[in-house]
Amino acid sequence: MKNKALKKAYVIGSPIAHSLSPAIFSFIAHQEKMSLLYEKCEVKAEELPHFLMQQKLNQDLIGFNITLPLKELMVAHLQSLSLEASATGAVNVALKVGTNFEGHNTDVIGIQKSLKNKNFEANGKNCLLWGAGGAAKAMAYVLGLEKAKTVYVFNRSEKNNPLVTTFNALFPETEFVAVQCLELAILPLSLIVNTTPLGMTGKESGLEYFLQAKQLKFSSGALAYDLIYTPQNTDFLKIASDLGLKTMGGLSMFIYQALATWKIWMGELKEEQRIFIALENYLNGILSVKNEMKPIFLTGFMGAGKSSVGKFLAELTNRPFLDTDQIVTEGYGKSIPEIFSSEGEQRFRELESMAIRKALSHNPAVISLGGGALNQIENFTIVRDCGTLIYLAAKPEVLAFRLKDQVDSRPILQGLTGEARIQKIESLLKVREPIYQEAEYLIQTDDLSEKAVAFEILSQIGEANA
Ligand code: NAP
Repeated sequence: MKNKALKKAYVIGSPIAHSLSPAIFSFIAHQEKMSLLYEKCEVKAEELPHFLMQQKLNQDLIGFNITLPLKELMVAHLQSLSLEASATGAVNVALKVGTNFEGHNTDVIGIQKSLKNKNFEANGKNCLLWGAGGAAKAMAYVLGLEKAKTVYVFNRSEKNNPLVTTFNALFPETEFVAVQCLELAILPLSLIVNTTPLGMTGKESGLEYFLQAKQLKFSSGALAYDLIYTPQNTDFLKIASDLGLKTMGGLSMFIYQALATWKIWMGELKEEQRIFIALENYLNGILSVKNEMKPIFLTGFMGAGKSSVGKFLAELTNRPFLDTDQIVTEGYGKSIPEIFSSEGEQRFRELESMAIRKALSHNPAVISLGGGALNQIENFTIVRDCGTLIYLAAKPEVLAFRLKDQVDSRPILQGLTGEARIQKIESLLKVREPIYQEAEYLIQTDDLSEKAVAFEILSQIGEANA
């Protein structure tokens, strides 16, 4: 076990805003019941030496993940490298040891485990890699270790030449061949891998480039593997599927490399396979939310945790967080108790309906609804038609306990204490629950922390969209 106390870690690179690493590591920490403060840190290539100097003195730092464009640059700055990092010339994990950093490459283990999970054995097989960058080197390393027969490396530039020279020297039992043109006589293939960024969300799809796969010959049961995981079904995989190949996206590699990173920083995982499955659902949930441009509405009684859960959910999915009660109070310049007492509940409900419509005019957000908002049929219809509705449920006594210090700011519960408060909540829930129950997802929040509720929401969405 390397470290157990409260620690800090980063993912560094540029651009970094959309990195899923903070979401994945906060989930693993939660599953392992350990604390890790994990943040994104924008570091450009020219800023790397200064960043490293600063971090040497950071006492709480356990290490960092390294992403584009720093993976290969990092090698020159580290005193000590793992076998995988040194063979691939790329570092995606740094472990802080004293005031130095040790470099690792967990993409290698991510690839090994994902292929094993798919029951693919490279031994004696012919394989073709598209691309010759850092990820291609990690893939070539695994195929060399596993004694593949031939590994063709196809790349638009001549970067594949030094790659095959290095790996032919490292793995004499595997033949690495650089190809610039797929028409050359290539043996029937058991594995084709896209290691280029073509097809990644926001990049060119590479459709024309990958259609060249039609010229290739395949062994029966051949596998097409795309390292990209956003989107999960790329043009590369669609073409391969049309050609009758089995397919695999990059999500399992991403999960396995993160689990391997955790082990380097924090020690063995208690139940790796269980966490892998939980992470798969959870990340599927995040990716589904990112792909679906619909808002997420949180409903439930006051005290259900809609605001605190909503803020965390918004952070995990890179969305804005909006609260319809807050839109009302900020827009109208009065608190909710003031609106109730001076103008009545009906006026508040009108303002609340307007707030829901205003929230819908933003980019897809996570939106916390007031506890009685869905009782207005027009609100319910618009929420159901435009977004994903999630009910945060809790028992009346749990809600009463959570609201014990807030009764004065909640007009409906004003002046009520003890059993009277619970009874009032029970009677209101009887009226409101049937409409809450119409939600697509229900999370029973009684014993869960706010973080755990957000994780559960994403896991349920992921499972439903698997
Ligand atoms: P990299 O070092 O920049 O290498 C990219 C490779 O793709 C290079 O060989 C490059 O060819 C080729 N390429 C780039 N744009 C191209 C285009 N328009 N047409 C044809 N070829 C093109 O990047 P990397 O670190 O290897 O990452 C590559 C991909 O792997 C990324 O999409 C990344 O998301 C994915 N990845 C996934 C995981 C995971 O956990 N699932 C982990 C690591 C990486 P040139 O040499 O000619 O420029």
